[in-house]
Amino acid sequence: MKEFDYLIVGSGLFGATFAHQATKAGKRCLVIDKRAHLGGNVYCENIEGINVHKYGAHIFHTSNKKVWDFVNAIVEFNRYTNSPVANYKGKLYNLPFNMNTFYQMWGITTPAEAQEKIEEQKAEALAALKGHEPSNLEEQALTLVGKDIFEALIKEYTEKQWGRSCKDLPTFIIKRLPVRFIFDNNYFNDKYQGIPIGGYNKLIEGLLKGIETRTDVNFFTEYKNSWHDIAEKLVYTGALDEYFGYKLGKLDWRTVSFKTRIESTPNYQGNAVVNYTSHEQPYTRIIEHKHFEMFGAEVYNIPKTVISEEYSTEYKEGMEPYYPVNDDRNNALAEKYRYLASQENNVIFGGRLAQYKYYDMAPIIEQVLNIEKF
Ligand SMILES: Cc1cc2nc3c(=O)[nH]c(=O)nc-3n(C[C@H](O)[C@H](O)[C@H](O)COP(=O)(O)OP(=O)(O)OC[C@H]3O[C@@H](n4cnc5c(N)ncnc54)[C@H](O)[C@@H]3O)c2cc1C
Repeated sequence: MKEFDYLIVGSGLFGATFAHQATKAGKRCLVIDKRAHLGGNVYCENIEGINVHKYGAHIFHTSNKKVWDFVNAIVEFNRYTNSPVANYKGKLYNLPFNMNTFYQMWGITTPAEAQEKIEEQKAEALAALKGHEPSNLEEQALTLVGKDIFEALIKEYTEKQWGRSCKDLPTFIIKRLPVRFIFDNNYFNDKYQGIPIGGYNKLIEGLLKGIETRTDVNFFTEYKNSWHDIAEKLVYTGALDEYFGYKLGKLDWRTVSFKTRIESTPNYQGNAVVNYTSHEQPYTRIIEHKHFEMFGAEVYNIPKTVISEEYSTEYKEGMEPYYPVNDDRNNALAEKYRYLASQENNVIFGGRLAQYKYYDMAPIIEQVLNIEKF
């Protein structure tokens, strides 16, 4: 008999949840990760007593009660509600677009006035098209929300994200731009949201409690050719193309880089997320991490704060692969790799890297909870 039922490559939410469920079902698991820590991209680094989201801000949200009950049974979640603010040339606007935003933009106070204003501007954009379909992101967005919202809150922010003019970006990037004619700054429509009390590391520690783990271990250098000797099956959550030695070519990614620093003030921006929607700042957002877990007067219990500026960055070798690129070349290549993956015996390809697909945290957990037999 082999030492383990499963060798699990990657200790992110897919690997950790899989290990948890398989162990509960009586299986023996070994979890390895090439990084020096467990947790994948939800890992937090403690700086000045603040949990800093090292791989980008993570806000848990779901409408799936099964997933919500599952994570809360591991660690209780707090009441954090994502309500980002946009800063355009020094003026602040609430997001997502709602009655607060419309008041800040036009001084109007009723839903009827806001609807009228937006409809008027949408009509102007449609008239300018003279019967043609929108041919780029700029035209598309103008027909969806009109010029004032587009110019202050979408145009330059999107250009920073993509490094290209909105006139040169395809329409499919923005299919819908929801507007709310109520005073509601809650970004997500989901029933449940929050952050684990004590941070995401608590969630990962809880999932992996009692399970053998090894960090600083790269599957390709230590186990690729020998995993059969120690485990019946492999769960692989690393990059899909890397597993196959890139033999069909490399998949592209988009990435974000972070400049994180300590500020000597207890409260830098009064909110976890502030989007900078003009070209005046080179970054797209500033995250102030303490606001994910400290509320009201608690913010002042720690005299310092930690902030991260986020920069949209072209992906290069050695950077963190964050978002798959869903263009024709990459979709077709990923499909070919997925076919190869389906031909591998006793290997489960799970998670965002191995499926080459963007998933929020809750759907990743849901996938594992839906596995009927381990
Ligand atoms: C910038 C950013 C912000 C996000 N914000 C949110 C959010 O607010 N809300 C939300 O719900 N979701 C968010 N997500 C999505 C969330 O991060 C993913 O759903 C989640 O990380 C997926 O977990 P995973 O296990 O698939 O991948 P990961 O967390 O990436 O875990 C994969 C692990 O595999 C390891 N690994 C890879 N290759 C090897 C190898 N060869 N050998 C050993 N180990 C290896 C890696 O080191 C890593 O630890 C965000 C994603 C990004 C990129």
